[in-house]
Amino acid sequence: MPAQPRPNIQSLSAYTPGEQPAGQPVTKLNTNESPYPVSPKALQALHETAAESLRVYPPPLAQPFRAAAAEVHAVRPEQVIATNGGDELLRLLITCYCTPGVPAGPGGLGVTVPSYSLYPVLAAIHDTPVCAVRRDDAFGLPEDLAERWNDAGCTLAMLVNPHAPTGRCETLDTLRKLADAFNGLLMIDEAYVDFAEQDALPLVREGLCNVLLLRSMSKGYGLAGLRFGYGIGPAHVLAALDKARDSYNTDIVSQRVATAALRDQAYARGVWQKVIEARSGLTAALLERGFAVLDSQTNFVLATPPEAERTAASADKPRAEAIYRALKDRRILVRYFDHPRLDDKLRITVGTPEQNALLLDALDELL
Ligand SMILES: *Cc1c(COP(=O)(O)O)cnc(C)c1O
Repeated sequence: MPAQPRPNIQSLSAYTPGEQPAGQPVTKLNTNESPYPVSPKALQALHETAAESLRVYPPPLAQPFRAAAAEVHAVRPEQVIATNGGDELLRLLITCYCTPGVPAGPGGLGVTVPSYSLYPVLAAIHDTPVCAVRRDDAFGLPEDLAERWNDAGCTLAMLVNPHAPTGRCETLDTLRKLADAFNGLLMIDEAYVDFAEQDALPLVREGLCNVLLLRSMSKGYGLAGLRFGYGIGPAHVLAALDKARDSYNTDIVSQRVATAALRDQAYARGVWQKVIEARSGLTAALLERGFAVLDSQTNFVLATPPEAERTAASADKPRAEAIYRALKDRRILVRYFDHPRLDDKLRITVGTPEQNALLLDALDELL
């Protein structure tokens, strides 16, 4: 008998990322990447990374990046941790705060549904129980959310805000109350916060001891290919995470490029502004075409296509899926989720005005 992986790995359904097509160009509105390139200053940092710095190990604590992030966000460097994409931070948090192999808690992970589908996969890899609480009909947070996580013995909760895949954003007051009521560590996933009106940094600056923010360079900084993210939170939480991460979890190239990109806030803000304007335009155009569109504080919109006569051939198929496929045939990619509550909707990344126009032209042909 060959060696077998642990039973929880054998039974695991792996995370399904959005399509990353090779070859012919497509209009790619499916994985929330930035439609604009990274800051020229970051590219310069890339070109200036000399062979000599590849020969030696990178700064183990990513100190230059931590210093830059501390300055940009007005926190202390000990309140920042750099990770190999925001996704590594998620995994580290589960490693450090959740208990494996206890079927009915304590030590489990709290999430809301629907949400980022990677959270429960990471919990399953760690063999830790998940308490999944259904969001209300408007995709808001139920009143008793913290209580239900507490009752299930959750020691960590992951809340994406602004929310994916709806784009909805909770108020600071709601988040503060949730953190106060929850007994464990609350990770607020701010992967999309660059496109929102407000972030949850005040909670960290106020000194709440159980709130940690996740930030990503993938969406707002045009660096999804680089793999760089970071956490901002209380120093005692970050000290724990630092003990458990790989000694050199971020490489020298990504540290240099991410640091330069983060320092160039003027450039980044210009990009965010363009995306926010394009989001308004796209939302209005979809509404005009009879779509229902949720108000979004992110770089994507969740849109429900108008009800139309279903033909015999499509009678058993949700309409959103048919549109997703027809767009794909026209080399335009959007995201379709085959999940309850989402299977009548399409998640569309906000592109450049030109990309959005291509999408709208295709929809006019289809509808
Ligand atoms: C993109 C994303 C992240 C982080 O992605 P990385 O590319 O690993 O930085 C985290 N949470 C959500 C909800 C995301 O969409």
